Amino acid sequence: GVPIALHILFFQTVASPPSSNFLLLGPSGAGKTAFTTLLEAKSSLASNKSHSTHTSQQSTLVTVTLPPTVPTGSNRYRSVNDPSLKEATRNPIKYRIKDTPGHGKLRASQGISELQTMTQSKDIKTRLRGVVFMVDTAALVDEATLRDTATYLHDVLLFLQKRAKNGSSSKRTTEVPVLVAANKQDLFTALPPGAVKEKLEAEIDRIRKSKTKGLLDASADTELEDEEEILGNDEQEAFSFKLLEHEVGVKVDVVGGAVKGDLQEEFGSGVRRWEEWVGMCL
Ligand code: GDP
Repeated sequence: GVPIALHILFFQTVASPPSSNFLLLGPSGAGKTAFTTLLEAKSSLASNKSHSTHTSQQSTLVTVTLPPTVPTGSNRYRSVNDPSLKEATRNPIKYRIKDTPGHGKLRASQGISELQTMTQSKDIKTRLRGVVFMVDTAALVDEATLRDTATYLHDVLLFLQKRAKNGSSSKRTTEVPVLVAANKQDLFTALPPGAVKEKLEAEIDRIRKSKTKGLLDASADTELEDEEEILGNDEQEAFSFKLLEHEVGVKVDVVGGAVKGDLQEEFGSGVRRWEEWVGMCL
């Protein structure tokens, strides 16, 4: 009855760390809604609770649980024989993930403003731990989709770079890491994660170059006002995620997976490596 439900609610509020928020971004059709729905289903399976269904039309913040066998950053070496595993099974670690809706051209700016809100929040309860940027790896062979995806990712990374720079050295903000979730690896037309990384890096490099050129053209007749920032700072070197990490401290990992398909049917293993990434941020 109600008292038990309240009791559970209270217990969970107390037991879960309040500051583990993740933001899910990426072009529409990448699989964000499917991913959130799957995490919710997995979580309710573990806790015997029903889960809500939602569409990609609205932004949703859902609380999900990390599988007990996934190690966390603060408990890196949790092994199967570890007594803490028992504890983790009884009292699973929770985190919250915010899905952002995709409305054509608007979605990038919606995503960025969500990012802004979540990173600027002074409230520790809503502090952002990481960004999951989801891509459809079967769609990236299309030039327009690649350009669109890379532009969105570029803007997300530039935002995080500016944020990293603005943090004063005395009160350092912790950098928000980014997971590029290379989804739909079950499809046989899918590009492998390594190729996805290369394509995105090369395309972001092109975007950087055309931005610099645009700025040079524009500054021909105007004074160089406050210099527009270039992603990864070093414009001589070709853009790579490694460069970004080295220059700015923002870490990007590209990890393959699948929300749907055969991979997924083996006990949800298609998203396991993304959950491991989440675990490392906790
Ligand atoms: P969103 O716009 O990013 O929220 O994308 P959706 O979650 O709506 O997914 C778009 C489509 O891709 C849906 O038809 C999903 O069933 C499908 N989809 C999502 N993930 C996968 C996957 O890993 N493999 C395959 N084959 N299809 C997927």
